[in-house]
Amino acid sequence: MKEILDNKIEQTERPDQIDRREFIIQVGEIGLTTLATYFSLLLKDAYAERTPEFLINFQKAYEDHIYRKEGNYLILRNGTRIQINDNIKKTPEQKLENADLEDQMLLPYYGGDYVQKNWQSLTPDYDPGRIRCQKFFSSIYGSSPSEVSSKLVTLTWPFKTAENKHLKITTVNNVDKQLKEVLSELQQLIAQKPHFRKYLENIAGSFNYRKIKNSNQLSPHSWGIAIDINATPYGDYWLWNSDKNSQYENQIPIEIVKIFEKYGFIWGENWMHYDTMHFEFRPELLPNYKKIK
Ligand SMILES: [Zn+2]
Repeated sequence: MKEILDNKIEQTERPDQIDRREFIIQVGEIGLTTLATYFSLLLKDAYAERTPEFLINFQKAYEDHIYRKEGNYLILRNGTRIQINDNIKKTPEQKLENADLEDQMLLPYYGGDYVQKNWQSLTPDYDPGRIRCQKFFSSIYGSSPSEVSSKLVTLTWPFKTAENKHLKITTVNNVDKQLKEVLSELQQLIAQKPHFRKYLENIAGSFNYRKIKNSNQLSPHSWGIAIDINATPYGDYWLWNSDKNSQYENQIPIEIVKIFEKYGFIWGENWMHYDTMHFEFRPELLPNYKKIK
């Protein structure tokens, strides 16, 4: 714009050709036209490049790892290119086995005991968070047992009465710090409601580099982002139910769940393929979670 204005000034600064008032009007018009064109181009670009909401939540949740968006790819700071949408139409099983970011973020996570309350109206594949883009998680948390292990710390689980009171959790994304806050609030809850301790006593596992049962995909326990609070007798898992389509009675108190969700951990109850002992750090599905710096 400055160039155009400069040219115009050069052309019009001969006092014998144009009076000063007309000059100001002309320059003003050129300025306004140029500004209008500039902003209309900006708007056009913004429209063409409009970022879907799921990607905004995703980028916000993992901002420390994402360098930039390049067309249909997210470029991570470590150089990995993650495809946003592969445009392949998939069955629910295919999404589990070969998810892109769009598949991962397709279903909204509402939290609490949403699946219990809405069981009759939900489709069998309503599993927000159970679909995971493996390449992304392996890229940021580690792609081998030794790589993941190098980023783990050991935390003490304060509710366990047996000898082995430790669990391993990743330090990536401050997941260990997020979990420490969860533990602190859970301790406060137990102080008020001691009868809740039984749901937390027999922690069933945290880091474990393994595939999901009946699947070729890595379990989120492989990346040190998941913990199982109590498998028996208070946890319910869809594969343990002899009738896979029947509803179950959740046993985990919602007060415990709310504390995990507050710090970015989703709960496996929110899947039709339920797993009520399971909590997993997935801040992209809880955009208002409390982030510890
Ligand atoms: Zn689990």
